[in-house]
Amino acid sequence: MNIIELKILIIPLNPDLLFDFSHLFFPHICVGCGTDVLGMKAVLCIKCVNRLPVTNFHLYAENQVEKIFRGRLPISQATSLCYFSKDSLIQRLLHQLKYKGNKEVGYFAGRLMGIAIRQSETYDSVDALIPLPLFASREKKRGYNQAAVLCDGISAITGVPVLKNVISRLTSTETQTHKNRIERWLNMEGRFELRDPEAIKNKHVLLVDDVLTTGATLEACGHELLQAENTTVSIATLAYTVK
Ligand SMILES: [Zn+2]
Repeated sequence: MNIIELKILIIPLNPDLLFDFSHLFFPHICVGCGTDVLGMKAVLCIKCVNRLPVTNFHLYAENQVEKIFRGRLPISQATSLCYFSKDSLIQRLLHQLKYKGNKEVGYFAGRLMGIAIRQSETYDSVDALIPLPLFASREKKRGYNQAAVLCDGISAITGVPVLKNVISRLTSTETQTHKNRIERWLNMEGRFELRDPEAIKNKHVLLVDDVLTTGATLEACGHELLQAENTTVSIATLAYTVK
């Protein structure tokens, strides 16, 4: 096949057709129950969406997620869409998103997060969405940052722009040779670099991640974002692990 023929094959592909292509790899059935009765870009059927263990934390200024950051990071709002538990639908969704390359799951879950956030006036002042950055090596291996895909979904519903290059995760090992591997990893886990403080100056940003457990990584990233002038930080995750 020559280049011209190849171009003819590629050019007509609009995003919807590309989406159809993805069905070759991910059959269009509900990730929760396997039914094929579901909307065009949905990964869950209505029944499974309705059985998601939603927290409704976005409706309450004081909630379990906000409490995790109290006294650790000055935030405006914090929420998680769902409770996380083992062997649950949420765990299956996260597994698809993080280990099976199923990006559509993230986009769909992000849209659900967007719908929730839009119900609460307290998130109306959010100017930008910031995905928690991944280590470059991990993002390369997975092909995408799952937090950025969630942001794209939220943005599709709320219209709030996603800023993907404001902050990055440091990967340099520097002078850590005296530390063992676990210590090195722990040391790097919370290291971020604010690359573009101007982009978030005087803005209310929503920092987004997939799962919230101890909150240590989000806390470190949030502190770095707050280095920018007059910036307000709020936090939203897809799932929250109850301790
Ligand atoms: Zn289902």
